Amino acid sequence: MRQKIRKAMIIFSFILFPVTIWYFSPYLIIQAASEHIINGSFIVFLSMLVLSVFFGRVWCGYLCPAGGIQECMALCNDRPAKQNKRDRIKLVIWSIWIIAVIVVFIFGKNDVTIDPFYMTDHGISVSDIGNYVIYYGVVFLLVIPAVVHGKRASCHYICWMAPFMMIGSRIGRKLKIPQLHIKADKDMCVYCKRCNKVCPMGLDVNQMVLKEENHRCSECIQCGACVDECPKKALKYAMRWEKRS
Ligand code: SF4
Ligand code: SF4
Repeated sequence: MRQKIRKAMIIFSFILFPVTIWYFSPYLIIQAASEHIINGSFIVFLSMLVLSVFFGRVWCGYLCPAGGIQECMALCNDRPAKQNKRDRIKLVIWSIWIIAVIVVFIFGKNDVTIDPFYMTDHGISVSDIGNYVIYYGVVFLLVIPAVVHGKRASCHYICWMAPFMMIGSRIGRKLKIPQLHIKADKDMCVYCKRCNKVCPMGLDVNQMVLKEENHRCSECIQCGACVDECPKKALKYAMRWEKRS
């Protein structure tokens, strides 16, 4: 039941993407920085960073429109993309992009102002035909890796938002701040590997259970599919860290 609700939420978020896309724009934050404007995507990315300290990457599992597109693409390719060296591509993209935002801001003009609805039409992102061209371009960019490499490939390889939450999660873990995570009890595991089969991120959940390090995986989106699938209840959601972590 939880997974049905999760999928409904994430697909609804995708349906709303034409309204919300500018609030996730990696380009508009640069354009706004050149005018010293704190725009919608700046606020959203900062919120992702802060909230991930307490909730990890739950945004990716339950609310992200880009995740919704990719879960729909499972109709074309249901094989999950694997965690591998390509995962670092997104960190390189993110680093270059953040440097660009900072440099543009330093050389920007005007006093600093806040405009959450920057470049939207009364808060709505896509309001004319020209904007739909950009919208479908972004959708295409997200869909192609998912079709070629498998489910959630864009999350693994190119997502510009994931690093904010990877950093926030890591900060939470280091400071031992209560944070939503998946806790494993290897003594209860019977190694059926059903958790591996359902993980939309293609993670080797069973291996993590063996090492009891599910909570450390930066690619886990806290979707709970493994929790719901495990016949022995060896996996569960938790907020509090055990002493050893
Ligand atoms: S490890 Fe479990 S909670 Fe994390 S992404 Fe995979 S199925 Fe979802
Ligand atoms: S589904 Fe549960 S019992 Fe099966 S391998 Fe995964 S953690 Fe172990």
